[in-house]
Amino acid sequence: MNTYDLIVVGGGPGGYVAAIRASQLGMKTALVEREHLGGICLNWGCIPTKALLRSAEIIDQIRHADNYGVSVSGLEFDLKKIVSRSRGVAGTLNKGVAHLLKKNKVTVYNGHAQLKGGGKLEVDSDKGKVELASNSIVLATGARARSLPGIEPDGKLVWTYKEAMTPESLPKSLLVMGAGAIGIEFASFYNSLGVEVTVVEALDQVLPVEDAEIAALADKAFRQKGIRILTGARVTELRKGANSVVAVVESAGGREEIEVERLISAVGVVGNTENIGLENTAAEVERSFVLTDEWSQTAEPGLYAIGDVAGAPCLAHKASHEGIICVEKIAGTEGLTPLDKGAVPGCTYSSPQVASVGLTEARAQEQGYKVRVGRFPFKANGKAIALGESEGLVKTVFDDKTGELLGAHMIGPEVTEMIQGYVVARQLETTEHELMHTIFAHPTLSESMHEATLDAYGKALHI
Ligand code: NAD
Repeated sequence: MNTYDLIVVGGGPGGYVAAIRASQLGMKTALVEREHLGGICLNWGCIPTKALLRSAEIIDQIRHADNYGVSVSGLEFDLKKIVSRSRGVAGTLNKGVAHLLKKNKVTVYNGHAQLKGGGKLEVDSDKGKVELASNSIVLATGARARSLPGIEPDGKLVWTYKEAMTPESLPKSLLVMGAGAIGIEFASFYNSLGVEVTVVEALDQVLPVEDAEIAALADKAFRQKGIRILTGARVTELRKGANSVVAVVESAGGREEIEVERLISAVGVVGNTENIGLENTAAEVERSFVLTDEWSQTAEPGLYAIGDVAGAPCLAHKASHEGIICVEKIAGTEGLTPLDKGAVPGCTYSSPQVASVGLTEARAQEQGYKVRVGRFPFKANGKAIALGESEGLVKTVFDDKTGELLGAHMIGPEVTEMIQGYVVARQLETTEHELMHTIFAHPTLSESMHEATLDAYGKALHI
């Protein structure tokens, strides 16, 4: 029996970060991973898709080079190289995680872990079965793509994110089912590469978690780029041909048959709770996610769950942060506060980008706030005009009573980087006063964040 102070199951951004932090806190730490260190995020999600989208962005920029006085003719791209660069980026970072774990003296077991109850784990690895024990076990087993009955991914005609990020050739036409972050990022990528893209979303707006005004602008921008969008619509049936599928799409407007070469299913995720021995513990699972308290503790003493397997928002940075808090709590660190889900930023790296933190205007009103809303369009921002990227909007939502920044929502150039300014503001419980008296460098896109704050109080200067 190998005994540790803490064992982490799953080596994604939740698990590996938790393991490093535990080791930094002086705990003898082990991590069990059955596939790739870095998890979905690093190997099949956040990182490789950003590499693909970078290629798409360069293609788009070259297409519009003429606007900048630059003539480029004969634009061509090599899909194999685009995909292999993306895989290379994932590979580099995967090795980086292995190095970090080694440097931090975390023992890594490559294999599948099963909880045996009473703080015991059995790992089925390529070197045989190993028994591990600890008073603190952190589950960070992540989530996988949800599949709908009758529209299950088959790896050939119906893709998940995995096939979508490693295409061998470009389909002529593509239907993307689901307009969440995954669906929209792939729709954006394939649209830039010249594929005819249709997005089908069950709810009545694209990017349903985003502020309605921002989502409407995203919808408009995607349509202008040639993406067909059907909201309030569902794929109800699929008929497969040799190299194409016919999707039956039903909406309030009626029934339509859409023939496409490939379909990407991006209808959310389910937690990885099966075959990990949860039945040997008192931990409870609801709708595929492990139930925890605010400190990530499950109903089984000494068993914790963090990241996607512990439920929404299923985002890498939420997983990492939850892991750190969980481990610090186990170590008895003082002055901790539980993760504030209202301060978790959300970013979609489509073209245009979308980013947000906190409450949407509608959600704030539902919660009973009297809100003050500020808006500033990039078309009034000098840097955006100089960049030739002046489409988009920054929107702020303040509590009229206290001046607290309740939420911030953006669409446009580099907003996925800029959102961090508002995240810090929310973390520091900033009011409009501090934001108004913060000096923003000129000329920057982030001046729009200042102006959107000023606008909420009728003080905007440049509009
Ligand atoms: P999601 O839950 O964000 O979006 C799925 C969408 O599919 C929803 O809008 C839902 O209404 C729609 N849908 C469900 N059933 C449908 C049906 N039958 N027909 C049409 N539409 C249907 O999930 P996702 O986009 O698959 O992403 C999974 C997780 O990964 C999410 O938590 C997401 O936030 C995260 N993620 C984040 C990023 C990022 O931060 N950039 C990128 C990728 C994924």
